[in-house]
Amino acid sequence: MDKRNKSALLVLVICMVITGVLYTACNTGPGSEISKNTPAADNTPSAETPGAPDETPATAVPHPTPGETPDTTEPAQEQRPGHLIRTDYENFQPNESGEIPIIMFHNFVEAFEPGMDKEFTTTFSEFEAMLETLYEQGFRLISMRDFIECSIDVPAGTMPMVFTFDDGTSGQFSLIEEDGTLKVNPRSALGIMMAFNEKHPDFGLKGIFYVNMDYGSKTFDGAGELKDRFRFLLEHGLELGTHTWGHVNFTTGVKTADQVLESIGRNQEAAYSIIPDLEFYSMALPYGSLPKSDELKALLREGTYNGIHYEHKSIMAVGANPSKPPISPDYNPEYVPRIRMQGMEPVIQDLTWWLPKMTPERMFVSDGDPDTIVVPEDRKDRVNESSLNGKTLILY
Ligand SMILES: [Zn+2]
Repeated sequence: MDKRNKSALLVLVICMVITGVLYTACNTGPGSEISKNTPAADNTPSAETPGAPDETPATAVPHPTPGETPDTTEPAQEQRPGHLIRTDYENFQPNESGEIPIIMFHNFVEAFEPGMDKEFTTTFSEFEAMLETLYEQGFRLISMRDFIECSIDVPAGTMPMVFTFDDGTSGQFSLIEEDGTLKVNPRSALGIMMAFNEKHPDFGLKGIFYVNMDYGSKTFDGAGELKDRFRFLLEHGLELGTHTWGHVNFTTGVKTADQVLESIGRNQEAAYSIIPDLEFYSMALPYGSLPKSDELKALLREGTYNGIHYEHKSIMAVGANPSKPPISPDYNPEYVPRIRMQGMEPVIQDLTWWLPKMTPERMFVSDGDPDTIVVPEDRKDRVNESSLNGKTLILY
């Protein structure tokens, strides 16, 4: 081989290497990352979705490979790290009329011990493993506020989920003091979520804690005052909701309008006394209990006690399936279903039971844009256009 041919070969090799590098870079870009995080295809027919119209699972499409004609529907640029808005709907089949799971947590412990509540107690290690599972399955956390407003701000192709915590137990969250500073207890559900969020920031650090103000400083028992604990939650983008003063049973306990008003109003009053603008806009019904009369039910939503007005935009039940999204004609904000986290013993309709059934065909799959509601044409009857709340409805 003469010198000229050697040079030509060298140029050819360099070109091939550069092409290879570019190709690899392209395929490890945001497109592939989303592809990895996109809900896995599930072609198993589900008894839960008889006649589900589209058989096509939600799959992300990687960026065009070199040499392909640029596609005008190429995914939009990332809006922020880990967040994608996409408009190539046919390729990944968003469905923002699908259901949204709202998970209900109670007690967290290091290990199960005899005498513990079997259904509502979770170990930290199980919780940690569940976070991984949910993340891998394509779920991303949203706040209760965003759920209520249907402002779903999760990456395109992923599915929103809400975490709710009842009773203010210290396993859910507590503070510890280190060198004179208050920090989250790493052995609490929130501590575990915060560590998980460092690894997977796109999972989201969201959740609402429903508290009973009559528990006083026993709520999130640990270091600091109740005010410090509430402030910590709010400053980290978490939310507080009401679970009534006295953890009352609305079916068998409180019977009169005054009692209903007091159980809710007094809880709000006590919250204001600690943090003046801590307005509870969501309530979790203790025991999932409802008053028998419509007159009393109306007071769960809105009322005035001792000069304090309260209004709940969502009221959480206890059982037992994913929620319709707030834009659904079947959504009832006064009794929003939740799914319980699996406890020591699995029960029907707990989260573990639901996981294989919560496929992209059934669930809310986001387009990534909180200002649009993107729905397949053949599911437009699943949208109540009067509850779009200023969002743009896009049918495809
Ligand atoms: Zn409770």
